[in-house]
Amino acid sequence: MSLTKEDILNKADELNVKFIRLQFTDILGVIKNVAITIDQLEDALDGEIMFDGSSIDGFTRIQESDMKLKPDFDTFTVFPWRPEKGGRVARLICDVYMPNGEPFEGGPRNVLQNVLEEAQEMGYEMYLGPEPEFFLFEKGEEGEPTTITHDKGGYFDLGPIDEGQDTRRDIVLALEQMGFEMEASHHEVAPGQHEIDFKYDDALRTADNIATFKFVVKAIANEHNLHATFMPKPIFGENGSGMHMNQSLFKDGENAFYDEADELGLSQTAYYYIGGLLKHADAIAAITNPTVNSYKRLVPGYEAPVYKAWSASNRSALIRIPASRGAGTRVEMRNPDPAANPYLATAVMLKAGLDGIKNEIEPPAEVVENIFAMDKGRKAELGIDSLPGNINDAVDELLKDELIQDALGDHVLKHFVEAKRLEWDVYRTQVHQWELDQYLKTF
Ligand code: GLU
Ligand code: MG
Ligand code: MG
Repeated sequence: MSLTKEDILNKADELNVKFIRLQFTDILGVIKNVAITIDQLEDALDGEIMFDGSSIDGFTRIQESDMKLKPDFDTFTVFPWRPEKGGRVARLICDVYMPNGEPFEGGPRNVLQNVLEEAQEMGYEMYLGPEPEFFLFEKGEEGEPTTITHDKGGYFDLGPIDEGQDTRRDIVLALEQMGFEMEASHHEVAPGQHEIDFKYDDALRTADNIATFKFVVKAIANEHNLHATFMPKPIFGENGSGMHMNQSLFKDGENAFYDEADELGLSQTAYYYIGGLLKHADAIAAITNPTVNSYKRLVPGYEAPVYKAWSASNRSALIRIPASRGAGTRVEMRNPDPAANPYLATAVMLKAGLDGIKNEIEPPAEVVENIFAMDKGRKAELGIDSLPGNINDAVDELLKDELIQDALGDHVLKHFVEAKRLEWDVYRTQVHQWELDQYLKTF
């Protein structure tokens, strides 16, 4: 379904839309928006709305200050939770353009579209299904977020223990009204932790959906006076929040990862794709696990991956092959977390997979044993290495990997690396509560 300009003008009129938010994502994955009124909608649909790029993180070169937003018409949707009184609020997701009409190379959505084009030239279309997890926390007296959970539920628990279920239900309903096809939603392992899955779609649409999803979860939680967070590891000693990414390539309408004749039902293309992901996994981590906090999730014992390996059977590996075959054959990358910019994360994973296919990169042998139960010697024997241990090391790896740098483009790379080096430095020089607890009395 592709909407035309007239379709949108008609819809906006029918639905009594008064305000439209033109949305885009900055390099660090934060949603930005410019609000316009219905009178400007026609100009906006013509891509004539300008904004000041110099006030957006990472867009900050002076010559980029006047930028244009070109909406993707198919992303038009009304926010169901905003009041109808005075007219409704709708949004359009936009690509960022330079004043000279060229796509802006610092726009994360443009970065993903470039890699998708490369895939298309090879005859592939990428499909993506995410599994985003998040926490719901109570707010303090001043409305500030806390880490106090509102429930004591565990994995798949039912009410009345699961007080978050009303919130979760309202999130699901709001997303459905916005055109999402919902799949499972359930309480996750940690207290206050939830997962809501929506149906896979082509990669660009899914990246848009992830950005929208995070925003809707926060908005609806807020209506319930709860704070939703996609911070990867908010509570020490509990599971963190991941965002597993299920990915597949289709060629001529058929799943290119499936081969009935293979022992595991996987095609040579799938094996090469896995080979590419594993080869570039360290550099990818900088983008899929982009914060200081991300690496506190990637430790043994919390169902999050630590080791670079793949497996069709166990969840201790970085890459798992879920059981379904045929059209549902897919590769699940388990390290991404929901703090990642969905456009950049998808772009670097696809780039690595395509490299695997182009250069016929064979993956190492499948690991069927539980890696968490292996000792050092056994891991060394099987050649299983760890992912980077912190964001600074991951950025070092990114700067060694030309292919992944190429996927991001110079502009995004430069701003991303600068931001992350600064983040690391500020973190590294803090005196943390743990240190005070540990040393203040002892020394
Ligand atoms: N919360 C786990 C993680 O950090 C994932 C649990 C699951 O398998 O759904 O990745
Ligand atoms: Mg989960
Ligand atoms: Mg999963």
